[in-house]
Amino acid sequence: MSGVEEFRAELRDWLSANLTGEFAGLRGRGGPGREHEAFAGRRDWERHMAAAGWACIGWPKEHGGRGATLEEQVVFHEEYALANAPARVGHIGEQLLGPTLIAFGTPELRQRFLPPIVTARELWCQGYSEPDAGSDLGAVRTRAERHGDEWVVTGQKIWTSLAHESDWCFVVARTEPGSTRHQGLSYLLVPMDQPGVEVRPITQLTGTSEFNEVFFDAARTHASHIVGAPGEGWKVAMATLGFERGVSTLGLQVGFRRELETLIGLAKRNGAADDPLIRDRLARAWTGLETIRFNALRMLDAVAAGVPGPEASIGKIFWATWHRELGELAMDVCGAGGMLAAGEPYDLDDWQRLYLFSRADTIYAGSNEIQRNIIAERVLGLPKEPRP
Ligand SMILES: Cc1cc2nc3c(=O)[nH]c(=O)nc-3n(C[C@H](O)[C@H](O)[C@H](O)COP(=O)(O)OP(=O)(O)OC[C@H]3O[C@@H](n4cnc5c(N)ncnc54)[C@H](O)[C@@H]3O)c2cc1C
Repeated sequence: MSGVEEFRAELRDWLSANLTGEFAGLRGRGGPGREHEAFAGRRDWERHMAAAGWACIGWPKEHGGRGATLEEQVVFHEEYALANAPARVGHIGEQLLGPTLIAFGTPELRQRFLPPIVTARELWCQGYSEPDAGSDLGAVRTRAERHGDEWVVTGQKIWTSLAHESDWCFVVARTEPGSTRHQGLSYLLVPMDQPGVEVRPITQLTGTSEFNEVFFDAARTHASHIVGAPGEGWKVAMATLGFERGVSTLGLQVGFRRELETLIGLAKRNGAADDPLIRDRLARAWTGLETIRFNALRMLDAVAAGVPGPEASIGKIFWATWHRELGELAMDVCGAGGMLAAGEPYDLDDWQRLYLFSRADTIYAGSNEIQRNIIAERVLGLPKEPRP
């Protein structure tokens, strides 16, 4: 057996032996549109995985990971999805902040913040977007001032996923008064449990609240809780986005395949597949998924070379559009019944949730339009679009 197949067998055995007892009921729980499901149990599961060495497996061993190769990470995501294991609660720390700290953090920051990510003792959220700074992140107005040995943070963030469950937030804030655009921003690590932080949930189309408004009113963090030099947070923030569009998406296609196969099964059962147009769209979805897979493999080369580059945008735009269209196709396969809620008052079935939540895929982690700009300017070398 090759090394990677041994890894697969070990993980498969571990999952089947451990997704039992108190954890058995967690199968299939959580994920987009359903993050509220069994959150505490999923956090316990995360700790259980960490104790057995199955958390943050792609991180180097010296930082508490397993030093898994990219191939092993792909296998991990495949087997995890095949076991229908619960959606991870610590993915923002594991996949976004952790790699950023490994690339840009001081030894002290790594020592302080990486171990509790591995053990799921501390959960993280991402404080980038503001009401007037989404795609145009350079317009960030949240400011932080240095007072003695602390940063004092004031401003508003929005769409902050899982802020209500998080212990810490990585915040992009303006630390040089009078600076504009990408200059003068810093990347701060701010504790959420303090009087200066207020989290207000936002209700989504799915009826659930996974993201929030976060208000910082003289919130405090220690002066050393800054990644990169003061005023040079932009490049750190962009590297985090590279991780968000890059290796962290490896597992997506496995879940997508499960959704597509289940949808094909439904279309066969309910007769929708007799419609040649539906058949054609299902076939296109299948070939699209293969393209996503090949793109992901191509992207692995860029990832292996270090921080993912602008190539990650190609993968992001493709899978996001594919998934949104799968949601639309699912509604057409369901037919008129797809318009009825399964129960009172707003109990969605998996297809309705897919349809509604996948509208967000082409927005978060950089909208489709922004990905096109990145591809045009940084991959194809076309002239930059005029800036105000
Ligand atoms: C489910 C979900 C979870 C999220 N989680 C987080 C999170 O945890 N933390 C966080 O900080 N943010 C989060 N976001 C916010 C997300 O990053 C922003 O929604 C995104 O960056 C777009 O910003 P915006 O919503 O302000 O839209 P805007 O930037 O106002 O864009 C509005 C429209 O204009 C288009 N547009 C904007 N600029 C251009 C341009 N230059 N050229 C062409 N078209 C343009 C956009 O594509 C879009 O269609 C999340 C969003 C969603 C949907």
